[in-house]
Amino acid sequence: MADASPKCRLCGSELTTGLVATGRRVGCCNATPIVGTCPEHGPLGPHHVVEDE
Ligand SMILES: [Zn+2]
Repeated sequence: MADASPKCRLCGSELTTGLVATGRRVGCCNATPIVGTCPEHGPLGPHHVVEDE
């Protein structure tokens, strides 16, 4: 599947992705890419995300 949904590595919840999830409210100078937002843990970078099939 080309549409693998990223999941939180901590709790396994599906992340919310898109413009809202990756909004720049995290910090104006934050260079960390946000993969998606976990409902439990908030915005997550690649290190906290697991791409599940
Ligand atoms: Zn989580």
